[in-house]
Amino acid sequence: MISEPARKVHTAGSSAGKLAQIGYGGGSLMIEGVHLETIAAEVATPFYCYSADAIRMAFRDLSEALTPTGVSICFAVKANGNLSILRLLAELGSGMDIVSSGELERALAAGAAASKVIFSGVGKSKMEIAQALRAGIRQFNVESEAELDAIISVAKGLGKRAPVALRINPDVDAKTHAKISTGKRDDKFGIAFTDAPALYARAALAPEVDLVGLAVHIGSQILDLAPYRAAFLRVADLVESLRNANLPVRRLDLGGGLGIQYHQGPGFDVRGYAKVILESVGYLGCELTVEPGRWLVGPAGLLITQVLYVKQTGDHLTAIVDAGMNDLMRPALYDAMHPVLPLRAEGPAQAKLYQVAGPVCESSDVFGTYQGLPELKPGSQLAFGCAGAYGASMSSTYNARDLVAEVLVDQDRFALIRRRQTTQDLLALEIDTKWRAASEDRTFQPSRAV
Ligand SMILES: *Cc1c(COP(=O)(O)O)cnc(C)c1O
Repeated sequence: MISEPARKVHTAGSSAGKLAQIGYGGGSLMIEGVHLETIAAEVATPFYCYSADAIRMAFRDLSEALTPTGVSICFAVKANGNLSILRLLAELGSGMDIVSSGELERALAAGAAASKVIFSGVGKSKMEIAQALRAGIRQFNVESEAELDAIISVAKGLGKRAPVALRINPDVDAKTHAKISTGKRDDKFGIAFTDAPALYARAALAPEVDLVGLAVHIGSQILDLAPYRAAFLRVADLVESLRNANLPVRRLDLGGGLGIQYHQGPGFDVRGYAKVILESVGYLGCELTVEPGRWLVGPAGLLITQVLYVKQTGDHLTAIVDAGMNDLMRPALYDAMHPVLPLRAEGPAQAKLYQVAGPVCESSDVFGTYQGLPELKPGSQLAFGCAGAYGASMSSTYNARDLVAEVLVDQDRFALIRRRQTTQDLLALEIDTKWRAASEDRTFQPSRAV
């Protein structure tokens, strides 16, 4: 028996089997028809592995649930920007929600139509705005008056008209982790609800702007429908008052944020979500868009790692694995706990607790404490579940660790969709020190500076 531990403990594999595409065959963990041990024999750990079928099914399930609302889907590229994943989604008909010109290039390179790209984000530079205007994107979601001014000036310079929606901050509490809440008044996102009518009226008068409507996005990893209902009702009120002032509103972008179940418990109710959309904004006759990221790709991905060492730390064992917080940042950043699945379900589950930690020199490089794992030894292979969103896309090279490989499985085939970075790739960016005399710069006067 395990006595009540002080720390939060999760049972290994507790969410295994929820996804039809990930499970055990002959005691070995599989994605679709491929044993992960087979891939691990060819691709060095750590690496990410995704199920193409799981992403397709998620897209189809969401599309189906949203059919009565006529909503179109724009995948939030920041959740997972791998070209092969974007291509898969673009082929299913998904648009793309981007937050940088880098993501624009990715989306276009993956074959997404520019006419289905929405540009979100609080800090679009003039260069990024110009690039998106030239590409002919569907819409800019503008987050401040200053950004509107920037778009007007860039559009004027290029002789183009910019399709613009105003992103409203509805001041609702999404009841999610503080670091992923975006729709409260004090969050940095969106235009204050009370400032919106005046700015909308101003934007409507600018000849460089094609004012299409409103956008809202209240946060991420939201499992409760109530904050959505509250936000959409506020948007509906605003649409009515704008229309009463003879300001047309033809599009509404309802954002993303749909949560996934990292452990036990009910998942996000997509049919209920569709109902909330219909009931709150359905009657307005607007073109509707949603921008999910996590929900489409999160459950479809695993991060495969192997145990390097096991050591006693205080009252429990710590397994040091070769994946670190630089590879999967969510535990360190959001206190997230990913499920753990052994690649080989071998031997009895141990009563002992394992803290699973990475090799990075930071105390926050800990994935969590788990019970129910088989005995871990150096070389034992593990998979972190629900790692398809905000995993690879958030990874860094901290501790001079190379970005890891990504693999896509489709039925009984697998493909390397990003090779592992090499340290040579990284060193190539760092050029030899070549000093330049600052005194050649006439604005700098050292005699006065002292
Ligand atoms: C991050 C983001 C999304 C996607 O969020 P998920 O929680 O992954 O669905 C959608 N829209 C905007 C504006 C975002 O910033």
